Amino acid sequence: MEEHFSDQVGPIMDERQAAQAALELEGKPPEQMLAWAIERFGRGLGICSSLQAEGCALIDMAWRIDPAVRVFTIDSGRLPEETHDLIGRIRDHYGIRIDVYLPEASTVEGMVGRHGNNLFRQSVELRLMCCQVRKVLPLKRALLNYRAWVTGLRRDQSVTRANIRRLEIDRDHGGILKLAPLADWTERDVWDYVRRNEVPYNALYDQGYKSIGCAPCTRPVAEGEDARAGRWWWETGAAKECGMHCAIESGSFQRRIDATLDPDGGGR
Ligand code: SF4
Repeated sequence: MEEHFSDQVGPIMDERQAAQAALELEGKPPEQMLAWAIERFGRGLGICSSLQAEGCALIDMAWRIDPAVRVFTIDSGRLPEETHDLIGRIRDHYGIRIDVYLPEASTVEGMVGRHGNNLFRQSVELRLMCCQVRKVLPLKRALLNYRAWVTGLRRDQSVTRANIRRLEIDRDHGGILKLAPLADWTERDVWDYVRRNEVPYNALYDQGYKSIGCAPCTRPVAEGEDARAGRWWWETGAAKECGMHCAIESGSFQRRIDATLDPDGGGR
């Protein structure tokens, strides 16, 4: 079983310290930021990779700094086969362990029993519920094991990500530190790195995909189309986010989920 850092209560850096660190790391390349985080947090640092090109580049960078760096991913249970293949290829390529966090079986059973496997097609609310159960809650559980985590978020991926900070206290996850070393990279910067360093990447990119999530909720995009246009493409007006990196709604959403999953509770 993994080490557990959750008994170290409270923020590991306060707002002032985080602001100071952000200032020191301002304009520094992602590798330098990762080196700082690895030195500062050691085994308390986790690279969270969704196995997209950004996450693969980060694994490569971090591994070059410390081959023992901890890497984890969330497996929603609906990932494409190509993503599972990639997990195996990354393990083989770097000789690393990747911790895979799955949704709680009983919660998935409750949700699917009430709403069906493909509930995400029925409404935005049910789609968000599926993301909550299959992604957001496993992430919360995973992050209990870390004092700082690294994501592959970039500002130019979508309007919802335009204000991402490279380093911040993550209030949604117990005040641990959240880093986005690639925040100011472009898609081209990522692919230049991946090609230059022969980083393993998801085979779906070669089939026209630009952003890869769960199989039923991701499709290829046309040339010139927004990278995230292939995610939940049937929805109009909803943020193309699953809630892992931003609270989609307030606590009332969680209460509605709890009520819906409660066998004696309300329906949808
Ligand atoms: Fe469910 Fe689709 Fe969200 Fe995956 S992306 S968790 S299948 S709604």
